[in-house]
Amino acid sequence: MKGYAHALFGAGLSALLSPDPLWAALWGLVGSKVPDLDLKKMHRKLLHNVFAMLLLSLLVGSIDRRGGVYFMVGYASHIFLDSFTVRGVWALWPLYDRPLGIRAFRSDWRLANAAVAALGALLLIYSLYKAAAGQ
Ligand SMILES: [Zn+2]
Repeated sequence: MKGYAHALFGAGLSALLSPDPLWAALWGLVGSKVPDLDLKKMHRKLLHNVFAMLLLSLLVGSIDRRGGVYFMVGYASHIFLDSFTVRGVWALWPLYDRPLGIRAFRSDWRLANAAVAALGALLLIYSLYKAAAGQ
């Protein structure tokens, strides 16, 4: 998936799950961007696995406990979304050295990226509106 789709979906999903959606969205956004830091080396392996996700989420959580949870939500959403792409993700690396996932479409498919980004934006807007209205 493209970076903008990961960012909006990670932020929107984190916001939806929190009573403080703006703060959660920021951590979700950061968490959704971190896995692609492995783009130049061991892409979809080094940072696209649950062990890296847990380790980095614990690290963030040691600084900001609730932030660590929403960081992990954003991170997990990234791994989940990439699992739908043809290349898959090495979600259990280094224990299991094969790509996993549904592997249904290319990561640059515009329709899928636009749909995921739109869903993330809707989740974010809904969550912020709900919080502003005090509901
Ligand atoms: Zn990725």
